[in-house]
Amino acid sequence: MPDGSQNLPILFLDFDGTISERDAIDAMLEAFAAPEWLAVEEEWQAGRIGSRECLRAQMALVRAAPKEAGALLDSIKVDRGLAALLETCAAHRVPVHIVSDGFDYCIRRILAHAGPRLARALGDVRVFSSRLTWEGGRWHVEFPYFAEGCAHGCATCKPAVMRRLNRNGARTVFVGDGLSDRYAAESADLVFAKAKLADYCRARSIAHVFYEDLGKVAAYLEALLRADALDASASAQAVEA
Ligand SMILES: [Mg+2]
Ligand SMILES: [Zn+2]
Repeated sequence: MPDGSQNLPILFLDFDGTISERDAIDAMLEAFAAPEWLAVEEEWQAGRIGSRECLRAQMALVRAAPKEAGALLDSIKVDRGLAALLETCAAHRVPVHIVSDGFDYCIRRILAHAGPRLARALGDVRVFSSRLTWEGGRWHVEFPYFAEGCAHGCATCKPAVMRRLNRNGARTVFVGDGLSDRYAAESADLVFAKAKLADYCRARSIAHVFYEDLGKVAAYLEALLRADALDASASAQAVEA
């Protein structure tokens, strides 16, 4: 194993509900979709269909043009601790990637109105997500990061993206909030979890740090990185932040 200075950890962030305060897809569906979207959601929550199939079916029910969709997305706020978290990572040269089942269209739009400090902090952050485009009067979905051999039915296979971006076997840190993060949480060395992901981790005895906002994650990581103690923490059992 190379030492910590050569082998910096990599931070992976979920988007909806983790970076954004509200899930952008749920917001779009609640505002603009025919009510059948709820039945599709139930199928997904029960584990009978994967995220890819779920999103394809749900987005086909959305009746809104980009103008209305954009106005709704502009009302969605970003966790106020995001800039601090990205700055902490930049200061320690820790790469950050966003991995999301959600759509690039929504992610870009929501991040674009988050202000100049965040725009600077987002400089090198890459986004791995599903793709949404408006063409010929309707929405089209694509899944560029769905993985061959993914048995989960993911829209974006988070563990596959994480493996692909981590050829050198760096320690991985994952921050998430929902059920679509469960496979990522199972494959990361250090997990920050809230909401349904925290429930899932608790139920499965997956070690995790409970957090409420990204400012807390930033402070926790800062302390670990400064003490070069990520390895010790990653192998520790669940800690409540
Ligand atoms: Mg989420
Ligand atoms: Zn998968």
